[in-house]
Amino acid sequence: NAMAGRLARQFSALTTWSAADRAILTDPSIDRVLETVLKRLPDVVPGDVLSVTVLEDRTLGLGRTYARAAAADARIRVDRTELSKEDIDALLARADRNSGVVCRSDVPPYLASVAELGATSVCLLPVILKGALVAVVAVGYRGATALSEDDRVHIGNVADRVAVALLAAERERQLYQQAHYDPLTGLPNRLYIEDRLAQDIAHSQREHQRLALLFIDLDRFKDINDTLGHASGDGLLRQVAARLQGCVRAADTVARLGGDEFTIVLTNIGSPRGAQMVAENVIRVLSEPIMLDGRETFASCSIGVTLYPDDGANSEELLRKADTAMYRAKQTGRGRYVFFEEQMNIEALDRVALEQDLRRALTRDEFVLHFQPQVDLRSRAVVGAEMLVRWAHPTRGLLTPDQFVAIAENAGLIESIGEHLLRKACAQHSRWRSEGIAPKRLAVNVSTRQLRQASFWELVQAALAAADMPAAALEIEITESLLLEDAPEVVANLARLEGMGVKVAIDDFGTGYSSLAYVKRLPIHVVKIDRTFMRDTPTSDDAATIVKTIVAMARSLRKEVIAEGVESSEQIAFLLAIGCHRGQGFAISRALPADEFGAYLRAQADGKSAQVL
Ligand code: C2E
Ligand code: CA
Ligand code: CA
Repeated sequence: NAMAGRLARQFSALTTWSAADRAILTDPSIDRVLETVLKRLPDVVPGDVLSVTVLEDRTLGLGRTYARAAAADARIRVDRTELSKEDIDALLARADRNSGVVCRSDVPPYLASVAELGATSVCLLPVILKGALVAVVAVGYRGATALSEDDRVHIGNVADRVAVALLAAERERQLYQQAHYDPLTGLPNRLYIEDRLAQDIAHSQREHQRLALLFIDLDRFKDINDTLGHASGDGLLRQVAARLQGCVRAADTVARLGGDEFTIVLTNIGSPRGAQMVAENVIRVLSEPIMLDGRETFASCSIGVTLYPDDGANSEELLRKADTAMYRAKQTGRGRYVFFEEQMNIEALDRVALEQDLRRALTRDEFVLHFQPQVDLRSRAVVGAEMLVRWAHPTRGLLTPDQFVAIAENAGLIESIGEHLLRKACAQHSRWRSEGIAPKRLAVNVSTRQLRQASFWELVQAALAAADMPAAALEIEITESLLLEDAPEVVANLARLEGMGVKVAIDDFGTGYSSLAYVKRLPIHVVKIDRTFMRDTPTSDDAATIVKTIVAMARSLRKEVIAEGVESSEQIAFLLAIGCHRGQGFAISRALPADEFGAYLRAQADGKSAQVL
């Protein structure tokens, strides 16, 4: 009879192990394997409770115990557990001996669940991989332990399966990690986020919750990559990744889509306000200085936001629309976030059509020049003007540069459009000069791509000559990012302009990656404080401090400094108090068409400026 029982168990053992092996092969997740083993083990090893404890964190001794009573219909319970260093050392010490099985007349505290299922004594077998304890298999008894020699072999087989399953799970985890994570930042990648977003959407749908997707793109990342090198670019991405993770709750996912694009998925946000707060925080956190190669640089980002279920029903749609909203954030000044609106979809389609129209705009001269006065904030006397272009589109009305300059740049049209606008601006200045009302300085915005043309300075010289305009009356506005490029054409152009007596202003100062060190090194005459800083000045201490610092440093470098985006009398008072005497903005005047600006200048010349203002 004993013999028959033994054979039956042998047979059970074979089927148990093959079932466990199948589970390992088909689904290496450790849960599945343990389920198979624990369900069948009672047929193989007589005992009252069976358990496997898997160590998840070996240094902290944290793990989970899967335990099951030996009854046919018993369920598997899973409990968190903790092994002390002594527990682990004791098990490792035993493992060196022959069978490694330890039988004891009590149940150790880390097998509390086994005790709760009725066991009062246990036999334990540690599972060791590469010298480390990874799991513990236990057979519990009501009363004294009763482990036969056969049982020792079977329990050893269990340990082997658990070890193989753990190895397979680890390999699986590594493969998954490779396929789903970005090696540079350690963040989940696009593949992961598409999966995860689908899951989060399904969950939100069931729970009637709202979810937000933030699509984050760094501003001018290409510039930093091109000029500081890829190693620095990588360093920046890693730091950005770390900062982004600091902005979210544990349940939210930060991922890198590729390049300088990141996403954040915020689950259960309630109202859009939740997403707005995170977006604001991301912008603030990323705008804090970043050290790269011992040099302080600045990152900024643009964010597009979509909401589920408001903006889309699936991950593909939410991602696409968030991308569209991000593009809008870029277009309207960068360093900001924009919520998706249906209207943008229509406009995204329009981009292609606009590009075609732009080619015609040049030949038909559909560009209209507007001028915004730059004044001495103490007397309000006009000291200069900035030309801001508009496009009188035949069907869409008057378009602002944000709606077409980027398209012109991408289409390779900005060089010829820019040259055309420069000539037109110089000609207008000539007309005002002949009337005796010309502003002392006329500022013209120039695209980065224009300054990369080796012949740019010659085009400027020709435009000045054609209008018979003094070089000193022209100011070229370039963006800060351009200075990072030590491109020989850019440096040569700046030197030539300097030689000619043309002034150079650095636009949007403080938004890019550069510092005043560049301004010091290069022939720059004017620093323009970006309007995003003015927007929060003097209400925000941070912005006010930045403005104050820029003014102080510019003055110590003997550069002219001008604040743009001046909208209130408080701002004017603040600027005067910190020694910035020049300003431009709605508080003084919007950009005006040439004839209106001419009238404005005439009123000034007649001393009627007080009434006009
Ligand atoms: P920008 O050079 O920073 O020009 C200032 C922008 O701020 C202008 O927008 C102006 O209308 C606006 N602005 C002026 N005062 C205030 C104010 O008090 N508050 C606020 N909130 N905004 C104010 P605009 O005309 O739409 O121009 C946008 C950008 O397009 C310009 O930014 C400039 O970078 C570019 N741009 C304009 N004209 C040209 C051009 O002829 N060529 C090129 N390449 N770019 C141009
Ligand atoms: Ca400008
Ligand atoms: Ca500006």
